[in-house]
Amino acid sequence: MLFTVSVVVQLPAHSALAGPLSYSSEQALAPGTLVRVPLGRRETLGVVWDAAPQPDGAQLKPVASVLEGIAPLDAAWRHLVGFAAGYYQRALGEVALAALPPQLRELDAAQWQRRLQRKSRKAEAATEAEAPPPQPTEEQKQALSRIRSEEGPFLLYGSTGSGKTEVYLRAVQEALAADPHGQALVMVPEINLTPQLEERFVARFAPAFGRHALVSMHSGMTPAQRLASWLAAHQGSARIVLGTRMAVFASMPGLRLIVVDEEHDPSYKQQEGARYSARDLAIYRGRLESRHSGQPCRVLLGSATPSLESWHHSRPAAEGGKYQRLAMPSRVGAGRLPAVRLVDMGQQPRNTQLAPQLMAAIGARIARGEQAMLLLNRRGYAPVLACGSCEWKSACPHCSAYRVFHKIDRSLRCHHCGFAERVPRACPECGDVDLAPVGRGTERLEEHLAQLFEGIERPGAEGEDRRVRVLRIDADSTRHKGALEEQLAQVHAGAVDVLVGTQMIAKGHDFRRITLVAAVNPDGALFSSDFRAPERLFALLMQAAGRAGRDASQGAVSEMWIQTAHPQHALFAALRRHDYPAFANDQLAERMQACMPPFSFQALVRADARTQQAAQAFLTQAASTASELPGADQIVVYPAVPTAIQRVANVERAQMLVESASRGALQQFLAAWQAVLHSTRRDGGIEGVLRWAIDVDPLMV
Ligand code: ADP
Ligand code: ZN
Ligand code: ZN
Repeated sequence: MLFTVSVVVQLPAHSALAGPLSYSSEQALAPGTLVRVPLGRRETLGVVWDAAPQPDGAQLKPVASVLEGIAPLDAAWRHLVGFAAGYYQRALGEVALAALPPQLRELDAAQWQRRLQRKSRKAEAATEAEAPPPQPTEEQKQALSRIRSEEGPFLLYGSTGSGKTEVYLRAVQEALAADPHGQALVMVPEINLTPQLEERFVARFAPAFGRHALVSMHSGMTPAQRLASWLAAHQGSARIVLGTRMAVFASMPGLRLIVVDEEHDPSYKQQEGARYSARDLAIYRGRLESRHSGQPCRVLLGSATPSLESWHHSRPAAEGGKYQRLAMPSRVGAGRLPAVRLVDMGQQPRNTQLAPQLMAAIGARIARGEQAMLLLNRRGYAPVLACGSCEWKSACPHCSAYRVFHKIDRSLRCHHCGFAERVPRACPECGDVDLAPVGRGTERLEEHLAQLFEGIERPGAEGEDRRVRVLRIDADSTRHKGALEEQLAQVHAGAVDVLVGTQMIAKGHDFRRITLVAAVNPDGALFSSDFRAPERLFALLMQAAGRAGRDASQGAVSEMWIQTAHPQHALFAALRRHDYPAFANDQLAERMQACMPPFSFQALVRADARTQQAAQAFLTQAASTASELPGADQIVVYPAVPTAIQRVANVERAQMLVESASRGALQQFLAAWQAVLHSTRRDGGIEGVLRWAIDVDPLMV
């Protein structure tokens, strides 16, 4: 007897087929079974989805093989994937297959068998037990007891250094202790932050559970490592998964706890393909897992500067809040938050890089053997190179952006398309040799500091060691594998006096000797057209401030310096008081007035084309019938506009914003509009349109 099975596969983009395909099989295959099936001329990995009715008389192709020895993906996982595909307006097969490790897609049945039979080569290396875990503080105890007794989701709103990680560790401990098959998923925004988190989790859990009980999942791993981690999580031998946003799709049959650290971080939003928010999916997944397994799966979001969405959701239940807010305002060990000092750059000579009073303060820190950290969110030497005699500037020929001057290799590099050239000897327009950098990046700041410190000796040091040691950490300095770890180790070991870097150094790191942090030029974000820019700036500055004074035994009062031409700005006033709630409530009031998220829901449709005109014409035409679509009476469709950087790599980009006070109406509308977008692309007769995509809940508008 032959069975019909419906199988989800990855179809070519914009394929006419949608949804699962039907195949025949000699076995009745359970939903979630991994199979290989013929598709056109090739064979591809698929997931058996829920049963489909037998189409009359259809000659179905048979399933080619079943991946034996691997349990079917469970209903909660399939439900999560189905939800994500629907919500983010992507094909089911695309989301399902992208959620599986790439190597799994490539192995045929025979290779798969060999893979399964291969003995795990890993020795179960003995791990040293960490020093006994610290006694939780009163605030930590409070938070943990609520996580134990309430349902959540929880927003752990804890100052930088309040010991949020210790709460995660203990919450994980309790989740695993409550159920011998229980599993926990812990997500961090950036791959850079995984090694140190991993270290703390390994130290805490490897002695009791074995090293193999913890696995990582992030894009820096080899395909073989990713497959191994995925299998361990799927089979349940991994009790703890630590990962970046992709880990939200990990198959974890015993999932009892999901932690999202630094939940406000934009890195949780995928910016291509299915543009999902791992933070939002974590909330949804927690509910799903609880429903499917009948056992609670808690979700714990943590941040010192929560996203305004999460802050709003965690308002008191009486006001409609859905999350439980757990506050931990105090720093562990009484290391106080830094005193915030504003330097009015309007009072400084033009082009001042570092105000003299800031330099003096840095010098004083060095003299005491402490460290300083300077934040400048722009890598390279200068954002623009310009001619002194004519109008020439280092524009990228392929993008509507300037190429950045990198002095180290004397190149002009476009940070959008990657186009790079050696710096010309003379102006390409007028031949003048007087080409000058405009503005500054981390490289230039590093050079400036080295000049300022030349001839200044560190007290108590000898020989070469007397020089002040400046280290730059940014995407350029850490390009090579292992470079970041090595550079961070230098900072931790005290082999660095002044650390210069981009936002990379502001997040999460538990630096113990930094007592002064300075934001060199944060003003750009104050007047951005993106309504989320102030939120991101405030979070970044609070995070940066949080790197200072983490060790009270240092004794010194720590400082956060801010160089700004707008010292009166309300954002800085709130920052000065470390008053996130005041800032958040102000912003929320503004957003409510303007009907912006979280008081409305948005989606962007982006189009790429050979000309800006074509990109906009495509969007405009697709929107011409929008008013007839379901949900349209509750939707506002804005006109098509160029994106902030409208040309990248010779492709013109336009976008159209769609907004509604009702998430349901927006979803309904988008689902119907997708078909219109497809047919406009196919039959609309507009030349030169390359691609389009929907971004639901976009972060950059
Ligand atoms: P956060 O993630 O909130 O910034 P961490 O979890 O990194 O803070 O904790 C800050 C520091 O305090 C760490 O060095 C951590 O080991 C220490 N710590 C956390 N909880 C306790 C505690 N209950 N007792 C003593 N030290 C603690
Ligand atoms: Zn010139
Ligand atoms: Zn470019």
